[in-house]
Amino acid sequence: MRPGRPGPPGDPAGPAMIDPRGLTGVREDSTVPPVQVGPAGRRVELAARRWIELDGVAEVTLLVPVGSLEQHGPHLPLSTDADVATEVARRAAARLGAEGIHALCAPTIGYGASGEHQDFPGTISIGHQALELLLVELARSACRWAGTVVVVNGHGGNSPTVVRAVTRLRAEGRDVRWVACAVVGGDAHAGHAETSIMLSLDPLAVGPDWSPGLRTPITEILPALREHGVRALSPSGVLGDPRSASAATGRRMLELITQRVVQKVLHGPDQP
Ligand SMILES: [Zn+2]
Repeated sequence: MRPGRPGPPGDPAGPAMIDPRGLTGVREDSTVPPVQVGPAGRRVELAARRWIELDGVAEVTLLVPVGSLEQHGPHLPLSTDADVATEVARRAAARLGAEGIHALCAPTIGYGASGEHQDFPGTISIGHQALELLLVELARSACRWAGTVVVVNGHGGNSPTVVRAVTRLRAEGRDVRWVACAVVGGDAHAGHAETSIMLSLDPLAVGPDWSPGLRTPITEILPALREHGVRALSPSGVLGDPRSASAATGRRMLELITQRVVQKVLHGPDQP
């Protein structure tokens, strides 16, 4: 990818989306409801509510986005996982609201367990122990007034810890569930999937260097990753290939993940 090109040529939803005057030229995909921003979007944010609005409310479903602050290749922001989880949680909360469910989106946990990315500057990892304790205490507190807590996890490296925390909370009798912001067949890190989603969310945040990284399936390199870290295997930090990314693909992926969160709330009371 040549510098200065935000998307591959021929992708109608790539470069053409960007209006140099701002984001007014971003196209809407008619199959996806527009992202709620401003006062309407604020309605799904827990932080924007007043306590009296929640007092005596029988059933609140709280969506908790969890991300990371870690390198995402030369082209994606450190906050990518948190950005994706936040957007999914907001969309799912709005969708659930339309279904008559009182769903709110908690402030995003912007740090996660990112030890394997620690060799890249900018990465801040709080580690598995701290993340587990944070999730457990957060959910215990939230469950004092919320009937259901759903962890929306944007970082694969958090998953074992999210599972441990959710299992512990459920053993304590709390209705806590979790959903991964992953798509079937998606590449591991800062490749086709994450670049597509970020193009659909914030094209101006995507840098010009879309060089492919290590493309070996993540399951095959996991032991080496854990032992040596990502930088030893992929100097750019990319595990996958962003060159095929497009905003249109990203919108479809976001929609699939959002639907999964909605289904988890509507039909998943017996499963973590
Ligand atoms: Zn990521």
